[in-house]
Amino acid sequence: MRIAIVGAGAMGSLFGGRLSRVAQVMLLDPWAEHVAAIQQGGLSIVELDGQESRFDVAATGDPKAVPEADLAIIFVKAHATRQASEWTRQFLAPDGLALTLQNGVGNAEVMAEVLGAGRVVAGVTAHGATLLGPGRIRHAGQGPTHIATRPDIEKKLAAVAAVLEQAGFEVHLSTDLDSLVWGKLIINVGINGLTAILRVPNGRLVESPAASELMAQAVAEAAAVCQARGISLPYDDPLGRVREVARATASNRSSMLQDVLRGFPTEIDVINGAIVREGERLGIATPVNRFIVKVIHAIEETYAVRL
Ligand code: NAD
Repeated sequence: MRIAIVGAGAMGSLFGGRLSRVAQVMLLDPWAEHVAAIQQGGLSIVELDGQESRFDVAATGDPKAVPEADLAIIFVKAHATRQASEWTRQFLAPDGLALTLQNGVGNAEVMAEVLGAGRVVAGVTAHGATLLGPGRIRHAGQGPTHIATRPDIEKKLAAVAAVLEQAGFEVHLSTDLDSLVWGKLIINVGINGLTAILRVPNGRLVESPAASELMAQAVAEAAAVCQARGISLPYDDPLGRVREVARATASNRSSMLQDVLRGFPTEIDVINGAIVREGERLGIATPVNRFIVKVIHAIEETYAVRL
């Protein structure tokens, strides 16, 4: 299978590196230093047990250099999804698939506008990864990857799942996309924005009574939106699940906290922002999520003058 990884940062490198052992993989990323490091010395992945493995994988910063692909995996941050989709349009085979395992809601819709809904497939992954520097990432957490299937792509997706399994990923195909995406979204709604505002690792949220209260309110608003949409979440107790994840990943810095610490744009608009938008559409009040979104926007707008 010919695979292009569009956005070869932390997660794209993890998936691309492993897949390069079982398929023909090209990493595409505009970060020139990272691409040069991979071209010269390969990609290094520090595994969960601390062992470091090297992967000889092709990488480029030029979409025109990407050969036709049967599968494109989009792993850019949400603000770059449209640009990444436009690049992908240049090399995705007419009968190819573009898969997003990004966080948040709305990435698949943007991809569908550019690539056509028939070629787009979405899922969620419990894997985690962190960038260490050019050509080097840390595998930070593992768990299953769930991908939403549908009748028109069932056969093609089964082949994709098989390749991912060969590369060492546990893959489950599901027919309930909303349950997957919103199930993951609620975890991010409870953890990402608050850890980025407070600048604390995930576990601190459940240790602080005031932070716990904000988390509970943000999650309750998100759960109300899901209920109004008729989404059946993959767990019964949303707040309990978010608290469990925060404890299980206690020392992790959420990706939004990492973005804020680096002065990068965050994914707030597709995470807590998605709750605000859906709340507005459905007539559900979401004051805590609205506040979290505004504070993160204010942080982004004042990166340059932070004391
Ligand atoms: P990252 O910032 O490490 O990597 C994103 C990469 O995309 C960067 O290397 C950047 O140079 C590149 N990029 C930017 N614009 C591009 C374009 N137009 N075309 C191609 N590449 C482009 O981000 P990440 O942590 O790997 O996260 C990627 C996605 O996966 C996000 O949606 C995130 O929420 C999700 N996710 C992350 C984790 C995690 O643990 N890091 C876990 C699950 C899901």
